[in-house]
Amino acid sequence: MKIVIIGGIAAGMSGAAKAIRINPSAEVIVYELEEYISFGACGLPYYVGDFFKSEKRMIARTVEKMQAAGIDVNVRHQVLSVDAKAKKVKVKNLTTNEIFEQTYDKLMVASGANAIRPPFKNMQLENIFKLTKMQDGLALKKKLADPKIQNITIIGAGFIGIEVVEAMLHIDKKVRLIQRGPRVFNGIFDEKITDLMQTELLAKDVELILNESVNSFVGTNCVEAVVTDKATYETDLVVVATGFKPNTDFILDTGIETLANGAIVVNEKGETSLEDIYSAGDCATVPHMVTGQNVYIPLATGANKLGRVVGVNMAGGETEYIGSLGSACVKVLDYEAATTGLSESDAAIINTELSSVFIKDKNYTGYYPNQEDLYIKLVYETKSKIIVGGQTLGKNGAALRIDVIAMAIKMKMTTDDLGMMDFCYAPPISKTWDALNVVGNVAK
Ligand SMILES: Cc1cc2nc3c(=O)[nH]c(=O)nc-3n(C[C@H](O)[C@H](O)[C@H](O)COP(=O)(O)OP(=O)(O)OC[C@H]3O[C@@H](n4cnc5c(N)ncnc54)[C@H](O)[C@@H]3O)c2cc1C
Repeated sequence: MKIVIIGGIAAGMSGAAKAIRINPSAEVIVYELEEYISFGACGLPYYVGDFFKSEKRMIARTVEKMQAAGIDVNVRHQVLSVDAKAKKVKVKNLTTNEIFEQTYDKLMVASGANAIRPPFKNMQLENIFKLTKMQDGLALKKKLADPKIQNITIIGAGFIGIEVVEAMLHIDKKVRLIQRGPRVFNGIFDEKITDLMQTELLAKDVELILNESVNSFVGTNCVEAVVTDKATYETDLVVVATGFKPNTDFILDTGIETLANGAIVVNEKGETSLEDIYSAGDCATVPHMVTGQNVYIPLATGANKLGRVVGVNMAGGETEYIGSLGSACVKVLDYEAATTGLSESDAAIINTELSSVFIKDKNYTGYYPNQEDLYIKLVYETKSKIIVGGQTLGKNGAALRIDVIAMAIKMKMTTDDLGMMDFCYAPPISKTWDALNVVGNVAK
């Protein structure tokens, strides 16, 4: 059994590690374009923001460790094309420039995603960065050490843009955040939650510019200003964080089924439309746990889990992914926020009327110092009261409460169940009626 894996980060290495454990006699070969494997890009904002020093801390597993586990890891190897009929891939060794073919019994495409390069004019100017690869982080951190770089403009107020805001403030830079839509996290979080996030950003002196669309950059060698449809803003450095596109161009000529954005469509086993070809991670879809649709949710959580499922199935086992809820969390300066499942606007997808409640409560008992507000939104089917989504925001204890709501969705719990659920209580940690009980009871 020869298993070939394209891409050696979250999905690819999860698949490789699981496959060799399930079937130690299998030949597992990984081709990774970069010089490293198992790189946690999630650490990049905190690395450039100097929360920790060594970039090596973002590498979860080394090539040597994986080779010792019996996996044939080949870094600086790019898969150029896939011949699905002949079951072979064409590979380029980027060190020697040698091009060779490799046959497979099972193939996993785990090639991730690339940052979208928006059509802004003069993108070639210096000091315009993206933040997805190790090299991006190294180059950006080096540039930020230059004391002349003080005014930072971040384009895009999604998860990465907001994390970069915190990073830049942490190293005492002046920060401007430009968002094309009317709110941060446009459409991802409820307006009541984004209002609180925006108040927090403004309170920490972030220059928040909403409803403006960047057109171009101005400068001679280095960027000196950002031009939007409404104004021109002077800047020393720009970070573009405008989303991701699946990295699948090299396989599209096989006729593999994809979404319009190029994400490879997979089922619960990670199987694609082509025989013996599997996929997982940022290059692929995930089945949604509630809607059953194949959706594009590029997160490390799903990449690891579906990657592991693929590893089992390629190695001869049989298992299925339970599906994604798009559970995600983020720190917005002093706040933490999280989301899972559906919102009311998704009612049409499941053809069911949805209701929601939004509460403001407290994280723990009032006489214990530093009690904080806790906001929870709960989304549920109007008739059955089955919980299908939620969002949280607060300064302490907010984000991880979303995991309870995620579990409730999986177990098809009702708002009544949540209202009476036996949660733990001690004054410094929660309340006798936890905020999650309260939101369940309010939803009655
Ligand atoms: C700044 C940042 C912060 C993030 N924060 C979070 C977070 O807090 N929580 C969260 O859940 N997710 C987060 N993510 C997303 C998370 O990093 C990704 O979902 C995860 O890395 C996806 O893993 P993957 O294996 O699918 O793809 P990738 O990590 O993109 O790895 C794919 C690999 O395939 C290689 N490759 C591509 N094409 C080829 C080819 N033809 N031949 C050989 N190799 C190839 C690439 O070089 C790449 O290394 C963040 C991402 C970024 C950039």
